[in-house]
Amino acid sequence: MATQSASPGETAAGPVLTDGFHLMVAALKANDVDTIYGIVGIPITDLARTAQAAGIRYVGFRHEASAGNAAAAAGFLTARPGICLTTSGPGFLNGLPALANATANCFPMVQISGSSRRSIVDLQRGDYQEIDQLNAARPFVKAAYRINRVEDIGLGVARAIRAAISGRPGGVYLDIPGEVLGQALDVSVADDSVWRLVDPAPRQLPAADAVDRALQLLAAARRPLIVLGKGAAYARADNVIREFIETTGIPFLPMSMAKGLLPDSHPQSAGAARSLAIARADTVVLVGARLNWLLGHGESPQWSADAKFIQVDIEASEFDSNRPVAAPLTGDIGSVVSALLGGLTRRLIAAPTAWTAELADRKARNDAKMRERLAENPHPMRFYNALGAIRAVLQHNPDVYVVNEGANALDLARNVIDMQLPRHRLDTGTWGVMGIGMGYSIAAAVETGRPVVAIEGDSAFGFSGMEIETICRYNLPVTVVILNNGGVYRGDEAPASGSDPAPTVLNARARHELLADAFGGKGYHVTTPAELTAALTAAVASGGPSIIDCELDPAAGVESGHLASLNPTSAATTPPAPVSVRG
Ligand code: ADP
Repeated sequence: MATQSASPGETAAGPVLTDGFHLMVAALKANDVDTIYGIVGIPITDLARTAQAAGIRYVGFRHEASAGNAAAAAGFLTARPGICLTTSGPGFLNGLPALANATANCFPMVQISGSSRRSIVDLQRGDYQEIDQLNAARPFVKAAYRINRVEDIGLGVARAIRAAISGRPGGVYLDIPGEVLGQALDVSVADDSVWRLVDPAPRQLPAADAVDRALQLLAAARRPLIVLGKGAAYARADNVIREFIETTGIPFLPMSMAKGLLPDSHPQSAGAARSLAIARADTVVLVGARLNWLLGHGESPQWSADAKFIQVDIEASEFDSNRPVAAPLTGDIGSVVSALLGGLTRRLIAAPTAWTAELADRKARNDAKMRERLAENPHPMRFYNALGAIRAVLQHNPDVYVVNEGANALDLARNVIDMQLPRHRLDTGTWGVMGIGMGYSIAAAVETGRPVVAIEGDSAFGFSGMEIETICRYNLPVTVVILNNGGVYRGDEAPASGSDPAPTVLNARARHELLADAFGGKGYHVTTPAELTAALTAAVASGGPSIIDCELDPAAGVESGHLASLNPTSAATTPPAPVSVRG
């Protein structure tokens, strides 16, 4: 307690000191960080404790990859950087793939990691968990910083948050050696070293001539198409996007994490006529979607060779990455789409009815095929009848957050499960990575408080399955549905030789639901769509953790799902001859 005669930051007994732990927490709180996902250990255990004592929610995981994935998903869901806290060395490395994945997905995230003593690490003298973490992280992130002095903690946090969230969002690594956390600092100096960012993600307005160029192209289009990507979902420009689409009547195609930006049932959705829309569109507006592998690099014959592209993106270097972009629109999606909307008074844009009718016709045919598939009822269950049951339950619970990973479990769920609300679907994203399931589910539950249903292939679930314990420990409203066909892709492959299982084979009779029993959740084992419907309805309504092991035919599923063409094919004569090594 300061006495009247002492100057600020001093008592009669001398200066009032704080330390790096408290300063880091103060800097995070000053910038509205309310949740940290992590695993404690040397040297950051006290940082987690200090954060919790200061009212920041700390969620402790079983593997840093899941903590990192949770932070990344939190970034997408809140448009504030998700924070992951890791220990030095291996803990840091375990978290790094999630940070890299966040960067690939353009999700704002900061991984704060404790690290070993610089003086020892830099001379490679063999410290406890010695790694040059800053340089190890750098190739995988949007930015990487290290704090070397306690008085720089506020600056380091400000810089990390600004870098994660401004412009194209991404993953930022923030290194803090344990010795800096332990350093003391006069409290009055500490107070002045922390600040709150002003306008962390400033709007970026497009140039008027760029807007007009785009509108001119659209006005001349005969078969226009709008592709909405997860950048559009992230941008939270839902109302202007909807107004632009509905005013122009242009068909739209949502990428998987943009589903629900407008409901999948919207009459202008071209989702059920995807291939035709892509192949025939003559003018394409990409809104927060990259022309990467997920869109066949914009190449023909998937796309028309002479289609013209208009692209809306905050990152100008994205344009022309795969095909010429005839009308680049740099800016934040809210500002750009508002400007396009404003320009509609100058230019008349309306989707030609011949084009919308062509798409409607294909949609009707594909919808009928889908209904037929969903009506089939094979036993043991296969993907479609299982997903049909899930679809029906989710239609009655549109505010459920859906997390989805796997091969067939991903490809088919994406098509079968309609979304009605924005930012309610999280999946394997730009990398098509497995292992995001439980981390994303935990973040969705923690950040929104709403029920979450994770639709998981049995193989995909295995990558983060131990986080079931985390889900139960925090009593989160997460239901994990495991579409268990007993394998990577499928579970019925015979071994190439010997008695070991084939490389793709897992255990089709594994009782994943028993994991819930181990940690205090509710487990269900289902073998029919009716049982699945009943279990999922009860699990969602319970508001607590559950696992539903859904027994599928091991012969259900195709290798690599929809990505079979990405497997290399042998150029050798068939069958390729075995190689015998001389010696
Ligand atoms: P998808 O995989 O759904 O096609 P991508 O991740 O490929 O989507 O593309 C997202 C794009 O959105 C990125 O190029 C990113 O720069 C852009 N983006 C993200 N946020 C914004 C924003 N607020 N305004 C404009 N563009 C954004």
